[in-house]
Amino acid sequence: MSTTTDLQSLAERAGQELAGATATEALTWVAETFPLERWILASNMQDAVLIDLAAKVTSGFDVLFLETGYHFPETIGTRDAVATVYPVNIVNALPDLTVAEQDAEHGPKLFERAADRCCAMRKVIPLRRTLSRYDAWVTGVRRVDAPTRANTPIVGWDERNGLVKINPIAAWTDEEFNAYITEHGILENPLVGAGYPSIGCAPCTAKPLPGADPRSGRWAGKAKTECGLHG
Ligand code: SF4
Repeated sequence: MSTTTDLQSLAERAGQELAGATATEALTWVAETFPLERWILASNMQDAVLIDLAAKVTSGFDVLFLETGYHFPETIGTRDAVATVYPVNIVNALPDLTVAEQDAEHGPKLFERAADRCCAMRKVIPLRRTLSRYDAWVTGVRRVDAPTRANTPIVGWDERNGLVKINPIAAWTDEEFNAYITEHGILENPLVGAGYPSIGCAPCTAKPLPGADPRSGRWAGKAKTECGLHG
């Protein structure tokens, strides 16, 4: 296993060398740099764009899914379809407590009273625990997602989780993203077609109003806009 210092230097070097890389070039670098068991690709199962791109480069890689216990059935169905269609291993990152146990310990509907605490227990901690087994993770973060993501690099050092973070489609516009789905017939969560452009846990996802910011349906009515996964 590489040391943290080695990985950080690697991330910084690759960050410069791959600053203008295409998604396929970035994913090829991942496959050639890290042993298969040392990197993982994260997906919220909104679509399989990133998984499809990676599967064109290599196979048998791990796909991280944060199984919060609060997902829409359509999201679970998309995860299961991905597992059938692509040669990947789904890694379900589970919280310490089931939803019923959390309700018993912290009271029901914690997401309504303390969404940050609920996200910490059901997403952030399981993510950190899972990532501790890897040297690198690949995400579908794009610069157009939010102003806070405008400077997302193709390769960078994830200080919070202590591993290399690769964002192969960071530079993609919405038009490029949607064109890839159409041209390649990519698997998509059925909720996208039903009017949910940004899908998270069911209790915290609403349909945005017509013409509103696509992410405005997440934690609608609250100041919260991020889970704390990509800070
Ligand atoms: S998105 Fe909502 S339900 Fe999901 S972990 Fe966060 S607060 Fe809890």
